[in-house]
Amino acid sequence: MQSFTPKLLCHWLIRQSRISWRMALFTGLILIASLLLLAWWLALQRLEAEKTLIGENARVQQETLAEVISENLTQVLDRGRLISIAANEWFDGKQLDAASRLSSMRATDRALLRITLYDHDLKQIYSSSPTTESLELIDSLQAFLKEVQNGTSTKLAVGPRSMSYEQAWELPLLFPVGNHSGRLNGILVVVLDLGYFLGLYQHIDIGRSGVIQVLKFDGEKLAEARQAGLVLDINRSVMNLPKTEAQKGTWIGQFFDAGHTYRTSFRNQDNHPLIVTVSRDVDETLNDRISAHTRLLAILGFLTAIIVLATFWFARNLKHQGLLLSALSKSDQEKQELIAELQEEKRRAFDLAAHDHLTGLPNRRIFHELVVSHIASFKRSRKLCALMYLDLDRFKAINDNLGHHVGDLLLQTISIRLREALRESDVIARLGGDEFGLMLTGIETIDDAALVASKIIESIGLPCTNLDGHDIQITPSIGIAIFPRDGQDLNSLTRHADTAMYQSKRAGRGRFTFYDPALNQGGERLFNLEQRLSKAIAENELVLHFQPKVRLSDYRIVGLEALVRWQHPDHGLIYPNDFIPMAERIGLIDKLGDWVAQACCIQLAQWQAEGVAVVPIAFNVSAKQLLDIELPQRIAEYLAIHGVAPGNIEIEITENSLVDSIEVARQILERLEALGVGISLDDFGNGFSNLAYIRTLPIHCLKIDREFINNIRNRHDDAVIVSSIITLAHNLNMRVVAEGVEMSDQLIHLKTAGCDEAQGYYLSRPVPAVAARELLISSTMAPA
Ligand code: C2E
Ligand code: CA
Ligand code: CA
Repeated sequence: MQSFTPKLLCHWLIRQSRISWRMALFTGLILIASLLLLAWWLALQRLEAEKTLIGENARVQQETLAEVISENLTQVLDRGRLISIAANEWFDGKQLDAASRLSSMRATDRALLRITLYDHDLKQIYSSSPTTESLELIDSLQAFLKEVQNGTSTKLAVGPRSMSYEQAWELPLLFPVGNHSGRLNGILVVVLDLGYFLGLYQHIDIGRSGVIQVLKFDGEKLAEARQAGLVLDINRSVMNLPKTEAQKGTWIGQFFDAGHTYRTSFRNQDNHPLIVTVSRDVDETLNDRISAHTRLLAILGFLTAIIVLATFWFARNLKHQGLLLSALSKSDQEKQELIAELQEEKRRAFDLAAHDHLTGLPNRRIFHELVVSHIASFKRSRKLCALMYLDLDRFKAINDNLGHHVGDLLLQTISIRLREALRESDVIARLGGDEFGLMLTGIETIDDAALVASKIIESIGLPCTNLDGHDIQITPSIGIAIFPRDGQDLNSLTRHADTAMYQSKRAGRGRFTFYDPALNQGGERLFNLEQRLSKAIAENELVLHFQPKVRLSDYRIVGLEALVRWQHPDHGLIYPNDFIPMAERIGLIDKLGDWVAQACCIQLAQWQAEGVAVVPIAFNVSAKQLLDIELPQRIAEYLAIHGVAPGNIEIEITENSLVDSIEVARQILERLEALGVGISLDDFGNGFSNLAYIRTLPIHCLKIDREFINNIRNRHDDAVIVSSIITLAHNLNMRVVAEGVEMSDQLIHLKTAGCDEAQGYYLSRPVPAVAARELLISSTMAPA
């Protein structure tokens, strides 16, 4: 697994969100700071809430305590009032009873120190223990007496406290003593032992700072009990308590010593002049939690410090990596730009080297490379292609007379027209000067090349207007070499195209010439032939040439092959390859075939009539004809009309013509055989069929394709094939004819291999009827 590193994260961030590392850094910092602030805010909120809760608890606790103490104090005061009622008996004349009641009441109440009774002249008439009144007490007795008599106070007054330390805890409480009818008889002074009263609460846990006080209404502190060290204090200092009308409540303030804040809860019952307070240092109530809080804050602080440090470290790394990365990407970008620049330069240099700067066409070097590569692929696919050399006629004169500038414009115009005339897949190049090289790829027939060439001549021949003010008309001379027929490599093809081009020039310019003279017969006018062919058949423009078949055992002529030609009134002799496919295409082949069959019969009849010893004449029957079931019938008619024996004619069919409809072909062949017509299988060896299949058909003769004969000497394989075809054919009782014999060694080879007959230029070219007649008369064709 890959370990997590800032570098990886940085790369990831930048790649994923396509933001710059600065942005990533900034976002990260903001995020972390926000998280920290949030954590602190939550922690402080929590602490504050806890503090409030603790304070609230303390308040409730203190108020409850103040309530309890105040209740107790009220009970003590109520007891004092009961005593004052009991004391009234004194004035009803029952002094003894009253004295004993008072002393027993004092004795049973430990909070009361002493009970003293005064009459309305403030003369002491009873005291539970001997005492001397202080002047302050006398004063307050008089003041209280007056208040009661005036009716301003009827309940209770707090007397002055003694200045002596021993009596500091004594709190005199003054009660009026009267009868039911409201008459004031005297005043009862009950001395409360504050020390005893507060001592009861010393053990209640209100913390070290806890203070319980009993105050006079005016805020004078009468006594207090402190929790710490269980001290009872009698400090008389006046407390600066806020004035309040309420009977209970809680204040918070610095009541005892500066620097400490106390929470003080107070309680006053029944409007008597004493208030009970319970106070506690606010900080102390929090103390228990404070350590927990401090710990929490310390942990949070520690974590914050770690996060800040880590962030700092991380940010530093990120910045470092970011800088590194942007430097890298910058250099990468520069590199890419440099590469693109170099490639562009290379492309430009290549273009300059590969293209002609004037026309933008490939130059001679590239043309040659392209031709070589096309030849290689055509060899594999066995397709045709045409190589053309094109030269502008009288270009030099234009250049010399009108200037190079006009010549350049003309070349540019011509190259545009060439491009328009050719297909995308064809190659056009400027070979130099006014010479262009063209390669037509993947043409179907040689006619196509002728068609394109005439199209080019036509298009170039159109006037080129306004070339720097000049209107020029120019013609090209074109030479065509066909692959593979005229050469199978660059050298021979270009040489032959060049030769053909010079022939065009010599023949009068503005035309195209095939390197192979046989192809020039039709010439550029081939495409007009279609319309003429039907007429040509009707008007007997067709002629038969005859090529002898020679028996190899004695070199006697044992047969003739009739080969049709078209004697065109304008274009001269046209060879069958230039019009037979056309006749098939436009549906004239049956008509043409019938003409040939009849012409053979006529020729045979004529020769016989002249007393020439005839040999069988073979004529070619094309695939389309073998679909016509009437064919044997018509042949029989021609034979009958001209009085020719069926054994004197043969037909030649190719293997491929058996493919389309084997059953019809079989019937036709069987009928012809029944007539007595010989049947030969032409161009044998390059078709699809095998001998085992052919043996089921009525075939008397195999003609070995001239391709094998051609290679018989230099290709061992072909020699073997020829030998085995001969052997097999003999086993099937067939004759074997070798076609296209051009050389004596081929003949010797064939003879040795047991071949029956031979046919070819070496023995004789196809010749007109007159010449054929001579050959028949001489009868033998002894090889030279
Ligand atoms: P094919 O039947 O194979 O005819 C033989 C062709 O080979 C003839 O071409 C002939 O001139 C040529 N040839 C003879 N000896 C040699 C030789 O030693 N070397 C070379 N290179 N060629 C030789 P041609 O007359 O141009 O005929 C071409 C083809 O046209 C024939 O091939 C045949 O398929 C077709 N054809 C000719 N006449 C007729 C016809 O009357 N009817 C039909 N349907 N097809 C015909
Ligand atoms: Ca033939
Ligand atoms: Ca043939």
